[in-house]
Amino acid sequence: MNLKHIRLSLILFFIVLFCISALPAYAAKIRVVTTLTDLADFAREVGGDLVDVHSLATGVEDTHGVPMKPSFVPILNRADLLILIGFDCEHAFLPALLEASKNPRIQPGHAGYIDCSQGIIPLDVPKSTDHSAGDVHPYGNPHYTLDPVLAETAVENIYKTLVDFAPEHKKEFTQNRDIYLAKLNAGITRWEKEMQPFKGMKFVSYHEHWPYFAKRFGLEYFGTIELRPGIDPTPRHIEDLVASMRAQHVAIVVREPQFPEKAPRRIAEQTGATMVTLPIMPGAVPHTETYIKMMDYTIQSFVAAVQTRK
Ligand SMILES: [Zn+2]
Repeated sequence: MNLKHIRLSLILFFIVLFCISALPAYAAKIRVVTTLTDLADFAREVGGDLVDVHSLATGVEDTHGVPMKPSFVPILNRADLLILIGFDCEHAFLPALLEASKNPRIQPGHAGYIDCSQGIIPLDVPKSTDHSAGDVHPYGNPHYTLDPVLAETAVENIYKTLVDFAPEHKKEFTQNRDIYLAKLNAGITRWEKEMQPFKGMKFVSYHEHWPYFAKRFGLEYFGTIELRPGIDPTPRHIEDLVASMRAQHVAIVVREPQFPEKAPRRIAEQTGATMVTLPIMPGAVPHTETYIKMMDYTIQSFVAAVQTRK
């Protein structure tokens, strides 16, 4: 073996050594699956380089009806942690996927099953929790992350989970969480200031996504185009809604991008309200890749919709 061969062998040896040493670092990443994209964003922010996060939803779906893909099963099978919204938001798709995953770590009641609604007091809890009525909010409204202050509760729940799972990385998780909450708090100050002039403004939406948002920013959530959460509107309901919107001068119709535009647009035309399309999770529309970008987009779009009326 000449000098050239020895040098080549040495280079190859170090390349192999590097690959082997890099492998455990990659393999050691905590495998996190979230149902929705806002939770994935929070998990990436808190987990940093220590987590590998996959969201089942891409952002464009109905939060209650993420289409089940066969590719979800192996992803869930390998997951260390499953992070979800809770209040049965994911009732239509998650239980079947969990059963198919055959992963005991992420089943309800196990340490890898993280319900982010812990610590949230739900709004609009119905008297009956019967799914057969078609109501998709049986334990109260699950869309609490549209209030950025309540989103912080979800961030804290994710932080606690990561610390419990990998206590040796508590320092990194704490630092990441603190940096993210500082950014989120700066956002909350900005959003509250931008929404300040619109206190008491009445609006309707297609699905009942917005009670926490309305409460945070002092808006009046006047009603929904759906008859009840998950139940299509009847002609009678639309007639009544249009009449009461006219009488009460409701200014804004919010259309969520996962629902057809036809009914919200028609109602806006019939009542003289302005229709605005607002995302309900990151990735729903362009320029909303993160939660903070989504909230910036939402607030700016709301403000612009009101200002076009002047
Ligand atoms: Zn809902």
